[in-house]
Amino acid sequence: MDEQQGEAGWLIQRLTLAYHRLLIAGFALTPLIAIAYVYSFQDPALRFEHHLFHEVAIGIAIALSAFATYVTWRCYRASGEVFLRWLALGFLGFTVIYLPHGFLTRIVDEGLALFLIFGPASRLVMAACFFIALLRYRALPDVLPVRCRYQFWLAGLGVFMLIMGIAAYLGQLPWAQARPVLVGLETGAMLLSLAGILVMAVLRTRSPLMTVYMVSLAVFAQASLAFLLATPWNHLWWLGHGIFAAGFFMLSYGIVQAFHTTRSFSTVYSQMDMMAQLREQQAWTQEALLQVQEANRKLEQLASTDALTGVANRRQLVERADMEVPRSERHGAPLSLLCLDLDHFKRINDDYGHLAGDEVLKQVAEAIQQSLRPSDLLARVGGEEFHVLLPDTDLAGARDVAERIRVKLEGLDIPVQGVVLHVTVSVGCAQLGPDGADMKSLTHTADERLYQAKALGRNRVVIA
Ligand code: GH3
Ligand code: MG
Ligand code: MG
Repeated sequence: MDEQQGEAGWLIQRLTLAYHRLLIAGFALTPLIAIAYVYSFQDPALRFEHHLFHEVAIGIAIALSAFATYVTWRCYRASGEVFLRWLALGFLGFTVIYLPHGFLTRIVDEGLALFLIFGPASRLVMAACFFIALLRYRALPDVLPVRCRYQFWLAGLGVFMLIMGIAAYLGQLPWAQARPVLVGLETGAMLLSLAGILVMAVLRTRSPLMTVYMVSLAVFAQASLAFLLATPWNHLWWLGHGIFAAGFFMLSYGIVQAFHTTRSFSTVYSQMDMMAQLREQQAWTQEALLQVQEANRKLEQLASTDALTGVANRRQLVERADMEVPRSERHGAPLSLLCLDLDHFKRINDDYGHLAGDEVLKQVAEAIQQSLRPSDLLARVGGEEFHVLLPDTDLAGARDVAERIRVKLEGLDIPVQGVVLHVTVSVGCAQLGPDGADMKSLTHTADERLYQAKALGRNRVVIA
């Protein structure tokens, strides 16, 4: 049953995990639907050429990427994570190289290629840095003081300047007007983003932040696809901007999230992982605790019951008496004790064997138990000796109970090994107070009366 439940739980877990992945994949690929739709149904003549709008949009994008650069750099400074260093450089590269794309909006009529080229160039540089970042995901954190690392940023900026110079040069060459240059850059950016996703799949990165990162890469690749299919100022071209912005927002969300938690992309994973492990441990501990409690309960029962007959043993009787005696004294409620001893029990053992004797003891205990109230306690205190503690019962009442037991046992047929045996019992009764001030003296009195009963000929109850 437990195993079945465990299997069902496992299946549900696998299914929800598969669904989770499907959900992420579906979310990541949504831009594709928009691209396919606009590409299929847009009127090729329809364009939205608005320079100011473009400048403002680019301005916002640059402000955002500058902010992302700063936050990522702060995260890097705090964690030393090489991955974050390259991520910050990627944002920086995008910020720097995208800037001319905005400034050159006004010259679009004289130099369309020059205006356009900085878009794919910035995306390519960013994708390249992000790709290197992924390759260095598992690299050990930088230990050198971050201050000593300015060469890295200077070199990065130098490379960006060089790229901008090359782009500016290419953008003015007559053959750059041809699409191949732009297509080449944009395709490069798209392929690098896709390669990044591949690297993540190989690295098996599992953290939520890395999942956000992976989705952003997928969105960037689709933005590049939109630009590849678009012509300047048409709707697919604007859609490309929108998709790119979506990827950007997602990635900056991941970075701000990292900033707020651990300043690290990989630690977020280890923390989540630790939390999951902790939960598992807690569940395990809880389970173990329940098992211990159950074992304790069983031990408790074993320790307080008589193995042969299943009634209470002397230990439980003492515990119960420790409760009942003060209670009786406090409330003035009567409390009585019966001491029972089977008559000539030795003979049963002698005539039928010890096993038969044991069987008789079991059936006798059961018969006595049936003559009692739930609040009474029957205990086996010796071989064939029983005590019965009777709360709220005075001596007369105790005698009635004892008499009931005596009569019941006298008439009891005890089938054992094919024969029917009979036993009788002698009982001594005593009441707390008149017959003893505590359990010890009470037991002593009841015991004395039991032997009186024996002396008087057995199979009788003695109360005085
Ligand atoms: P009486 O009490 O009437 O004087 O005679 P008795 O034969 O019952 O004598 P006593 O109470 O002194 O002896 C108890 C006998 O009960 C001794 C032993 O053979 C038997 N006995 C004690 N414990 C067990 C037990 O656990 N199993 C069995 N089968 N017999 C037991
Ligand atoms: Mg005895
Ligand atoms: Mg006896």
